[in-house]
Formats: sequence, structure tokens, C-alpha cells
Amino acid sequence: MQGAALAELGLAGEWGYEAIEVAPDAFEQRVRAMPGEGFVGANVTVPHKGAALALADELSEEAREIGAANTLVFESADQGGDADGVAIRAENTDAEGLLRALPASPAGVRALVLGAGGAARAVVWALLREGAAVDVWNRTGDRSRRLCADLGGTPVDSPEQPAYGLIVNTTAVGLHGEDPFAELPLAAGGFGAGQTVVDMVYGEGPTALLRAATAAGATTVDGIEILVQQGALSLEIWTGRPAPRDAMRAAARRDPGPTGR
Ligand code: NAP
Repeated sequence: MQGAALAELGLAGEWGYEAIEVAPDAFEQRVRAMPGEGFVGANVTVPHKGAALALADELSEEAREIGAANTLVFESADQGGDADGVAIRAENTDAEGLLRALPASPAGVRALVLGAGGAARAVVWALLREGAAVDVWNRTGDRSRRLCADLGGTPVDSPEQPAYGLIVNTTAVGLHGEDPFAELPLAAGGFGAGQTVVDMVYGEGPTALLRAATAAGATTVDGIEILVQQGALSLEIWTGRPAPRDAMRAAARRDPGPTGR
């Protein structure tokens, strides 16, 4: 996806994007070496989003409030770097990426967020900032209560599926073929036209959750669209150029890559 974007921008010769696998205990050292290797920034994914925030010199408001960073920017001394000549800025494009992927503003909408992990935190923060009324359900109720105490929103144990204009699955359910209607407080026949249903989980083709929502006439947004939107925002931060979202979307749909991000 990022490679296709760089090619479309005519930057493929000078710029590259590569996946680097790193263990948690080697993360900070690896990141601090990157500016010296010519990197201008990095995307960060599970389980490193909290560690990325902790090592940064500067935090965006989103990253600080959500408590996680998915994008790092390495700034040279003339942009305000420290004694080593480099300042690390932490951003979070997951929240804005979710909002860009929605078909309409969630302002005033009653929303249900399923899950209370890292992805849920960005989603809840984004929906509340836009003025949605957000309920949060999680398999482990303590976690949703803690999330709501931190960010806002209302923890719920038995959500009423038809009451929501927007339902967002941020759990990992579906990633390995689990039946969402066995694991989540939703019924396959309980969706309706007028609802928007988002599944952060993606793979090859629509998930069982989105297939049921589509069959009921609901509007759906899949995890690849969210992946594309957050990646496009990161690319714009690093390059200062508008991201070619169509090329990114086409590349991501051809090959979604590892699905457990
Ligand atoms: P995480 O922090 O590990 O959280 C996992 C969440 O899934 C928790 O709320 C957990 O509930 C819940 N869960 C796991 N198995 C479950 C089950 N069998 N039944 C009910 N709930 C279950 O992970 P994360 O970073 O938030 O990511 C969650 C998923 O979102 C990932 O698997 C990934 O597919 C997707 N994602 C997609 C994008 C994208 O760009 N499309 C970006 C980020 C994440 P408990 O608290 O009860 O364990």
C-alpha cells in the first residue's frame, strides 16, 4: 500500500517503506537507531504503540489522550531536535483514519464500540470528539469500565443492537474465523437499514459480521478502508504531500498483508 503510494507520487526511487519485526525489549534501541539509517519516520503496531509514546520527545494531542502512537516522525536538529540532533514526535492517525473511513459524521449518533483494547481506545476517542454518544462493550467488563473512566463513554453489559446508528467491532473476533455472533453481543438478524457497521478486522473478502450487516441493508465499512485511511494520513505527515488514496486502496485490496495488525 505505501509502496504503491510512493510510486504514484514519483518518490519510489528515493523513498521506501519496509516492515521491521522487533521484540518489545529491543524496541527503543531499534527506533533510536533509525534516524541514523535514513528513516524519516515509522508506523508502529501491536504490541509497541504504548512504548512508541513513551520514548517520544513530543506528543500530538491525539496520541497523548488516546495513550498510544501508531506513527513516529524523526525531526532533525534544525526542526527542534535534542543534543543527538533528532527529536522523535509521536502521532496517532488511527483515530482520524476511522473518521475518514465513515460515510458520514458521527455527530449526534448513538454508537456502540465492541472491544476495549488499543484499537478501541482510538475509536472511542475519535467518536466522542466528533460528538457521538458512545457505549462500550467488552468481553472483560473491567477493561471497558477502565477505558470509559479514562476517555469517556458508557460501559454496557447487554447492548440493544437496534438502538445504535453506528456499531464498530474493534475486537479481534473474526481474525481467525471465529463466529462473531457466538462471541459478541450481536445477532446476525439484528442489523437494520440506516445503521452503519464497521469491522476493524480484515482478511480476504467481507467478514461474517459485515456479510450479515449488508444482508440487512446496513452500510458497511471494512478494516481495509480504515487501514488505508490511517496509512494515508501517516504518509502525508512524512512526505508533506497529499496521499494517493485510490492507489493505496487498490494495492491494499490486492494484497491486504498480515491481518493481525
Ligand atoms: P488488543 O488490544 O489485543 O484487544 C483485543 C480486543 O479483542 C479486546 O477487547 C479483547 O477482549 C477482544 N477479544 C479477543 N478475543 C475475543 C473473543 N473471543 N470474544 C470477545 N472479545 C474478544 O488488540 P487491538 O490492537 O485493539 O486490535 C484488535 C483488532 O482490531 C485486531 O485483531 C485487528 O484485527 C484489528 N485492527 C485493525 C486495524 C485496521 O487498520 N483495520 C487497526 C488496528 C486493529 P478482552 O479484553 O476480553 O480480552
